[in-house]
Amino acid sequence: MSSDPLIPYRELAREAGFDLLGVAPAEPPATGPELEAWLGAGYHADMAWIERQRERLLDPRRVLPAARTILCLGISHARPPAEFRGGGRVARYAAHRDYHNAIGNELRRWVRKLVERGLAGEARAVVDAGPVLERAHAARAGLGFIGRSANLLHHRYGPWLFLAEVLIDRELPAEPKNAPGSCGTCTACVDLCPTRAIVADRVVDARRCISYWTIEAKGFVPRELRRSFGPWVFGCDVCSEVCPFGSRAPATGFDFGHHPALESFRLEDLFALDEPAFAAAFAGSALRRPGRSGLLRNAAIALANLARRDAWPTLVRALDDGDPVVRGHAAWALGELDRDQARRELAPRAAGETEPRAREEMQQILGDAP
Ligand code: SF4
Ligand code: SF4
Repeated sequence: MSSDPLIPYRELAREAGFDLLGVAPAEPPATGPELEAWLGAGYHADMAWIERQRERLLDPRRVLPAARTILCLGISHARPPAEFRGGGRVARYAAHRDYHNAIGNELRRWVRKLVERGLAGEARAVVDAGPVLERAHAARAGLGFIGRSANLLHHRYGPWLFLAEVLIDRELPAEPKNAPGSCGTCTACVDLCPTRAIVADRVVDARRCISYWTIEAKGFVPRELRRSFGPWVFGCDVCSEVCPFGSRAPATGFDFGHHPALESFRLEDLFALDEPAFAAAFAGSALRRPGRSGLLRNAAIALANLARRDAWPTLVRALDDGDPVVRGHAAWALGELDRDQARRELAPRAAGETEPRAREEMQQILGDAP
């Protein structure tokens, strides 16, 4: 009697709470040339780790030489929009406890079970920024297609999926070809991206992307981009929210665990946190990723974009923050909220500002920038 060899894998995936499982051969991904072109154009900004992983991204057998199959898992993170108390948007996936921990732990347990049950000999799990071109393999495994926004789009969950992969040394019947699907005539993500970061089909220039700037990038945000960030403090969901795919995605059933940060803080409360308090408040949350410096920088930009005039005293106090990135962005935010009053506030401070970039921010508002 022959039976589907994927059944035990599917059963284990369901038990673990994973929504989707697909199978792809452990072969170089079809989008390898696109990755090369993207890196060549510098669209990865200063994410040097992508460059360092180039060889492994282009061939999963460099991650696990014995790999024959990639088990591609999809976990829905569809949920309502997320924001700090009083406003300041956060990418929906970051509203829970850090998904790296939740999914990583579950994935490690899952791999142990695969090995215990003889469903894999050698196995290696990868989640998020790991050395696998996950959207390409997921598309090959039938989980969806890659849309203009470069997101993987599933017919039911749309872009609201975390992807994870397990490379195993077993040969399993893969999908015959990529999942069908196309954006058709839709260009909503391209047209509505606040910073025009989608520069071609499936090509996002990270140097213009709000997600890159608010999560990955250190230091000062280019002034010409700040207004376009709108209310976003961590990440950006615009290209996912405008996508017709997944607009009716059911809420996630995966238990990511609750994190209290969003309901605990208003944006202005963040400025009262020193490094140890910040580390304690955001332990276990993806929001700690940009660090105190990055998150307060983003909060200052959002306060200006949200026209939060009531946050004026907070931003004035932030001019004395120990971090020049915070001082510089607080100065910019004050200038956006009320240029004349900001000039009165900044005039006595600019000359005493010792950090050149923060001083330049102040001088811009005072009108005597070099
Ligand atoms: S995440 Fe936001 S900024 Fe980045 S491409 Fe999508 S819509 Fe544009
Ligand atoms: S918004 Fe439209 S163009 Fe963009 S990924 Fe979704 S379907 Fe494709």
